[in-house]
Amino acid sequence: MEDRIGFGAWINDVRLEAMPFAYWPPDLLDEVAERSLIETMRLQAASGYNMFDVFGLFAAWGWPVDIVSAVDRERDARVRRIQKAARELGIKLIYGLGVYSWGFDKIIQHDPAVKGPNIHAMCASREESWGWQKKIIDFILKYDFDGYHLEASDLGRCTCEQCLKTWPVLATYYNHITAKCADYIRKQAPGKYISAITISWADWNTGFTAEDKQNLITLSNQVDSILDQGHHGLFVKEPDRKAFVDQLHCKFGTSGGFWVYPPFRCHRERWFLPYTRKTGEHIQRLYADGGRSVLYYQGPINNPGVEVNVAFGGKIMSDVSRDVTDVLSEIIEELYQPKTQEAHRLLVQTFQLGEEAYLSNMNYDADGIHLKGQSTYPGPGELHIGFGVSLAGATSAVPVYLYEPNLNDQGRAAYAKGLEACLGHVSKIEHQVGAVERVQRLKNSIYHALDDVLNVAYARETMPKP
Ligand SMILES: [Zn+2]
Repeated sequence: MEDRIGFGAWINDVRLEAMPFAYWPPDLLDEVAERSLIETMRLQAASGYNMFDVFGLFAAWGWPVDIVSAVDRERDARVRRIQKAARELGIKLIYGLGVYSWGFDKIIQHDPAVKGPNIHAMCASREESWGWQKKIIDFILKYDFDGYHLEASDLGRCTCEQCLKTWPVLATYYNHITAKCADYIRKQAPGKYISAITISWADWNTGFTAEDKQNLITLSNQVDSILDQGHHGLFVKEPDRKAFVDQLHCKFGTSGGFWVYPPFRCHRERWFLPYTRKTGEHIQRLYADGGRSVLYYQGPINNPGVEVNVAFGGKIMSDVSRDVTDVLSEIIEELYQPKTQEAHRLLVQTFQLGEEAYLSNMNYDADGIHLKGQSTYPGPGELHIGFGVSLAGATSAVPVYLYEPNLNDQGRAAYAKGLEACLGHVSKIEHQVGAVERVQRLKNSIYHALDDVLNVAYARETMPKP
């Protein structure tokens, strides 16, 4: 792969300490956040990544109206140290930029001229909106990031009468504002990497229409890469992918086919979800179809499953021809320093079985309650695992990944059995490895995941669904 991108996604998604009382997405940039970002980049550099794409260095939901007060001296110094660390590690730092949405809430409240029906998205028909967008871009450009991730659609579009008339088709609206920002950044900062992210540009089931694809081919003249991440399935379906990629003037990619969205509220050793086979095989198919970019999700690397996933992503992207088990085996050797062949073998098996025990028992569309019952999806691309302190409502306070529609009774029983086997493996060899502290974290994470699935399985009879 040419673009081997680690995706934050937000600055605290890689945080090495949980934030039990924070709201999503926490934009705190303190000592822990800085250290966590730099530690993550160290593992990225050692594993073959060449970019780190992250949201929230300056703002999350809302830039202040004066823009500049988003960054005080302390934050400025932290951002510059993170940039310096990235340069030293050979990692290009990509700034996650909201396009007409993500970061504009306070501006929309302040300036009625840019306000449409969507409280998170500026009206694309108003020249004033473009003025605000340019102000923010101008501010960010002063920091001279290596590239910009343009995201127009995650929080929806403006649905005022004028916008609906000008851009009746969803994708044309997002395409228009993305292209406008890309052109502006190109002129101001030539040579920087620009990616267009197509989250929510189309219906998750049907994907891009022929017209959407044609418009993306036009957009591909203005950006370096188009990323069809695949949160609930891919907009460019695999059988059509090669023909589409061949027509693009830029690179194309996905987010590796599957990822766990990092849960920032819960204890770092609470889950064990490795997925090296699933993403490895996806990345190999993507490459065969001409895909050359991957936006691979990161997470807190002191979670043993996350650490192996992150290392694996970098290595398989660096050489997609490698056998996925060989890559995993190499990572186990490097991270755990097994002293015996048995320890090596059982550790590799633990990560393979941990993946299979969850993913092969998933029943994603079992009851159609996905996203508040609105629809079922062809996914999963993104898995939310839930839990934390019950601040954001009951559904995120419980381990949702262990409930329907992800696992049913049968799936939970099979997953528990798999985790028991993983725990047995690790218990057998825990004193045969060099990385003493790491293997204890591995054991803890399997133990905690097993506790959770058993608790859910037993409680299921008497407790209502989340
Ligand atoms: Zn509008």
